[in-house]
Amino acid sequence: MKPSYIGRLAPSPTGLLHLGHARTFWAAQERARAAGGELLLRNDDLDTARCRPEFVTAMVEDMRWFGLTWAGPMLTQSTRLLLYRAALARLHVAGCIYPCARSRRDVLAAAGAPHEGDEADEPVYPPQFRPPADASLPSLTDPVAINWRFRVPDGETLTFTDGHFGAQHAVAGREFGDFLVWRKDDVPSYQLACVVDDDAMGITEVVRGADLMKSTFRQLLLYRALGLTAPGFYHCPLVTDEKGVRLAKRHDALALRTLREQGRIPGQLRVDWK
Ligand code: GLU
Repeated sequence: MKPSYIGRLAPSPTGLLHLGHARTFWAAQERARAAGGELLLRNDDLDTARCRPEFVTAMVEDMRWFGLTWAGPMLTQSTRLLLYRAALARLHVAGCIYPCARSRRDVLAAAGAPHEGDEADEPVYPPQFRPPADASLPSLTDPVAINWRFRVPDGETLTFTDGHFGAQHAVAGREFGDFLVWRKDDVPSYQLACVVDDDAMGITEVVRGADLMKSTFRQLLLYRALGLTAPGFYHCPLVTDEKGVRLAKRHDALALRTLREQGRIPGQLRVDWK
């Protein structure tokens, strides 16, 4: 019988996992256990420029060392491209996306300075760069050779109840703008691949870091456009270092690997986690 709760661990093999990842993954495991459910493992390896096979091996080893367990074999996003491509075609038929020839530099220059606290997120896509809503859509090429963006419903307030932070809302077009669904190097965006997989894997609750809160709003729009039911979301507060700086993969001192080499014990590292 299918468990009533299915969660997932979805690391990207772009570096060594650190204590911040472990904390989020631990929360995911605890939530799955408390619900008598199941946890799956997904290797989010679509960023070909940054992902490396040795980090896949390392992340699996480090997660096991930390005491994380999951059901079944690991799913690897780079083997699932046909699924994402089918979703892109559906968005295209529905007229929810448009091709975008603007460079990242054009977008940054036109968008101006980021809002406070938004530095980690992408700027709102400048509306003047958008084609008119009734412009005819070129067909999708195979391979895709241009960026495709999702047109967000300007001014609509999106809401959801976060399992940790409670009621959340964001206004489309103001707090986040048109976002990439497919890149000109023929790779799906994180947003699209994540939604397609979370749906295909039957995920009932997504547990991830609070840095992805805005992505959740983007993903809610994709669920709706694709006619899919969104899972629940539980965002974990981010772990910071002693100076209050968010942990990143460059904080090597807090890499799980380093902690293990120093003889640290996972149970002790978790001792203060609520
Ligand atoms: N691979 C993504 C990351 O590491 C997963 C995010 C998510 O959990 O949706 O940021």
